[in-house]
Amino acid sequence: FDMFVLAFVERLFRPSYKKDDFALGKKLGEGSFGVVYRVSLANKPSSKEGDLVLKKATEYGAVEIWMNERVRRACASSCADFVYGFLESSSKKSAEYWLIWRFEGDATLADLVQSREFPYNVETLILGEVQDLPKGLERENRIIQTIMRQILFALDGLHSTGIVHRDIKPQNIIFSEESRTFKIIDLGAATDLRVGINYIPKEFLLDPRYRYAAPEQYIMSTQTPSAPSVPVATALSPVLWQLNSPDRFDIYSAGLIFLQMAFPGLRTDNSLIQFNRQLKRCDYDIVAWRKTVEPRCGPELRRGFELLDLDGGIGWELLKSMVRYKARQRLSAKAALAHPYFDREGLLALSFMQ
Ligand code: ADP
Ligand code: MG
Repeated sequence: FDMFVLAFVERLFRPSYKKDDFALGKKLGEGSFGVVYRVSLANKPSSKEGDLVLKKATEYGAVEIWMNERVRRACASSCADFVYGFLESSSKKSAEYWLIWRFEGDATLADLVQSREFPYNVETLILGEVQDLPKGLERENRIIQTIMRQILFALDGLHSTGIVHRDIKPQNIIFSEESRTFKIIDLGAATDLRVGINYIPKEFLLDPRYRYAAPEQYIMSTQTPSAPSVPVATALSPVLWQLNSPDRFDIYSAGLIFLQMAFPGLRTDNSLIQFNRQLKRCDYDIVAWRKTVEPRCGPELRRGFELLDLDGGIGWELLKSMVRYKARQRLSAKAALAHPYFDREGLLALSFMQ
């Protein structure tokens, strides 16, 4: 009851917007279920480019608004700052949902990982300056460790709230210039198990090529697609959570991001898709995968093994415990954060930020 009153009061005092309040800027992205623009408030164009982001979404925007409202109240620092969401139906035949966030920054993790400078470009963003230190595996490992910690921290926030994202990938992780941390975006495919919203995944909302999807994706997508798209309170959800460990779906995806950051040779879409095929052939046993590829691998893969083998192979150990076939055997986000891989100091600036 208290939560309800609080939410209501907060809603009353927050500014509300309508269509004409926004001046459209550059298009940032376009999926099959929405278009994303950079925008500013029409009556006060505080910056030329706009300091807000607008997503015009189809009917699935309703769930995305709901998820963002919940995140803002329960684990705000995990995701991009949500400002407001509303139904816009003035001129169109079909309803359109408009979602507004604060503009967090120009770069997603995908942009950063694709750069030849990675991971040093991220170090500069986080520290706000170029470090005058020799480049090498040790330093790269620290940067990657810091990025992984931030991703897992954000995931732990979502999972503790009962939300599974289901589309964790570098394109949906944005670098927030203000907080100098990575935040999660795009809750369009997310599910909230505590209240049973969208429990059975809408397959078509997920990454069409399953690049970052855990193997149970294939099992889920053969289930009946009769999804409850309205809130259905169910006392069963905490039990379901324990039985199926649905949060570990995101952990597998985060594990693949870790893999791509460690291995320069696995950063392109095609090489990741090839990796997925090889891993499947090894029955999702990443140790078996290593045995088959390592003896004949080039420098682009060797470097990844070297990085993960630092400090007695603690990074490889973490990767193994995230990328596992059985969801229940993968670490939770909280357990992963407590893994000894994170015992070593990361980038300096981080200790005071989290
Ligand atoms: P979709 O994948 O459904 O098209 P996203 O929510 O992932 O929509 O947004 C698309 C792109 O827009 C992102 O990859 C990112 O580049 C940009 N973007 C989204 N939200 C923000 C934000 N809050 N700040 C800055 N850029 C954003
Ligand atoms: Mg996206």
